[in-house]
Amino acid sequence: MDVLVVGAGPAGLMLAGDLAAQGVAVTVAERRAEGSNLTRAFAVHARTLELLDARGLAEELIGTGKTVGVLRLFAKLQVDLSRLPSRFAYLLVTPQYHTERVLRRRAESAGVEFVYGAELVGLRQDDTGVDAEVRTGDGVQVWRAGWLVGADGVHSTVRRSLRLPFPGRSAVRSVMLADVRVTDPPPDLLTVNAVRDGFAFITPFGDGWYRVIAWDRRHQMPDTAPVSLDEVREITRLALGTDYGMHEARWLSRFHSDERQAPRYRVSRVFLAGDAAHVHSPAAGQGMNTGIQDAANLAWKLAAAVHGWAPAGLLDSYQTERHPVGRHVLRVSGGLLRMAMLKPAIARTARDAIGARLLHLRPIADKAAMTVSGVGIAYPAAADAHRLVGTRAPDTRVDGRDSRAGRLYEALRAGRFVLVCAANRLPPWVAERWGDRVDVVRPADRTGPTMLIRPDAYVAWGSDDTDPTRRDTALSAALTHWCGPAEPATPLGDASAHRTAGDEH
Ligand SMILES: Cc1cc2nc3c(=O)[nH]c(=O)nc-3n(C[C@H](O)[C@H](O)[C@H](O)COP(=O)(O)OP(=O)(O)OC[C@H]3O[C@@H](n4cnc5c(N)ncnc54)[C@H](O)[C@@H]3O)c2cc1C
Repeated sequence: MDVLVVGAGPAGLMLAGDLAAQGVAVTVAERRAEGSNLTRAFAVHARTLELLDARGLAEELIGTGKTVGVLRLFAKLQVDLSRLPSRFAYLLVTPQYHTERVLRRRAESAGVEFVYGAELVGLRQDDTGVDAEVRTGDGVQVWRAGWLVGADGVHSTVRRSLRLPFPGRSAVRSVMLADVRVTDPPPDLLTVNAVRDGFAFITPFGDGWYRVIAWDRRHQMPDTAPVSLDEVREITRLALGTDYGMHEARWLSRFHSDERQAPRYRVSRVFLAGDAAHVHSPAAGQGMNTGIQDAANLAWKLAAAVHGWAPAGLLDSYQTERHPVGRHVLRVSGGLLRMAMLKPAIARTARDAIGARLLHLRPIADKAAMTVSGVGIAYPAAADAHRLVGTRAPDTRVDGRDSRAGRLYEALRAGRFVLVCAANRLPPWVAERWGDRVDVVRPADRTGPTMLIRPDAYVAWGSDDTDPTRRDTALSAALTHWCGPAEPATPLGDASAHRTAGDEH
C-alpha cells in the first residue's frame, strides 16, 4: 500500500478519502471493532464546510444539522458569523457521527480499504517505507506502507512510537458530558453561559436527545468518578437559569481537557494529524475542524510524493503551515476557556462588559468571526509574493475549460491545482505540460489577478501583471515550484516498488 492511515476519526477519514480520490492506495487501520456513534464535536465551521464543498460533500452534511449565524460564547458575548465572506456564513450544528459518516462514505467510494479491529502497536521506518506492527484478531502482523499518518487521536500510539513529546498542560478537569432528554427545550440551538461556580452548554442532537457539557468549580472529581444527573442539573440551573426539565440520561461521563501540541508533525515518512498532533479544550469547537483541515493540507502533498512529482520542501510545508495554526488554535480555545472559568465577580463583569463592547466594533467582530470560523487562516508567504499568496481562495464564479459556468470550489472537486486566468488567451502550454495536475478556468468577470490555486483551496501564486510574456514566465516558475517538473518524475523511494509477496496490506 502507498499510505497507512491510523485512526478512522474525522482527520483520518478526510485524509484517506482525499488520498484515494487522488489515486493513492490507502488502508485505514482502526482500533475500534466497528464505526462508533460517539459524539464529541457538534460545531462545523465555515472553513471546514468550504473544504467539504470542494469535495462535493457540504450540502449533504448541512442537511444533517441546523445552522446558526451567531456563536454565543457567554450570555452577553457573541460572535456574528453572518458577515463572513463565505458561502457558509454560519456555524453548522450537527453531531460528529454525521460528519464521520459523510467522510467515511466518500472514502469508501474512492476505494479506501478499512480494517476495523486493527490496532497499531508499533512502527519502524527506513528510507523507502514504514513497517507498521498492527494487532488484529489474528495476532500482530507487520504491514508495509510507503508512508504512514497517525490520525489516532490524543493518546496517539504513532506519536509515542516516534518518541515525540506532547508538551502542554491540563486545562480543565472534571468536565461532565451528559446526553439527556428535556421537557422544556432551550429556544436556541446552542445555549452556553459561564458563572462564578461553573459553566454549562446545551445543544440538541436533533433526535430528541440533548448534549450537555457542564463544569462545577465546587465539585472537582477524577475522570473515573461517576456523574449523577442531579449534578449536571444543578450546575445547568446555576449557569443557564433552568435545567430545561432534564429527566433522563442515556450517557454520563467525566473528562479532563489538556492543551498540548507535538513539536513536529513529521518524522521522515510518518506524519501526525488531528488530535494526535494538537489537543485543546472544546471551547469554540475547534478540534475536529482543525484536524479535518490538517488532513486537507497534507493529503495532496502526500499524494504528490506518492505520484513522484512533489517538489522539494512540499512535504515539509505541512509542518510550516499547520503547526502555527495548531498553536494559534490552542491559544484561542485556551483563552476562551480561561475566560469562562474566571471566578472573581469583577473579572467576569469586565469580561462581559469589555468583551461585548469590543465585539460591537465591526473590525474586531469580523476578525473574531474570521478566527473562529477558520476563514481567516493564511499560510506563510515570501515577502515579495503577491498579496493573496497563502490566503484562502475565495469562491468566485468561473468558466471552466468546457466554458461551463460554475464556482471555483466546484472546479476544485477534481483535487487538482486550478489556474484562474483572467487574460484573454489562456496559456495553452499549461494544459499541455502540467495538464495532469492543473485545470484552467476563467473568472466570470474577467477581472482580478491571475491565480494558481492549490488543491486545498489556498492561493499558491498570483499576478496582476498584464504583460503576457512576463506573466507567463512567472507562472511557469510558479508551476515548477508548486507542481514539480512539467513531466512526471519517477517515484523516488516508493515502497510499492519494494512490495513483497507478504505485503497484502
Ligand atoms: C466534549 C467535546 C466537545 C467537542 N466539540 C467539538 C466541536 O464542536 N467542534 C470541533 O471541531 N471539535 C470538537 N471537539 C474535539 C473533537 O471531537 C476532536 O478534535 C476530534 O474528534 C479529533 O479527531 P481525530 O480524527 O484527530 O481523532 P479522534 O476522533 O480521536 O479519532 C482517532 C481514532 O483513532 C483510533 N485509534 C486510536 N489509537 C489507535 C491505534 N493505536 N490503532 C488504530 N486506531 C487507533 C480511535 O479509535 C479513533 O477512532 C470536542 C471534544 C470534546 C471532548
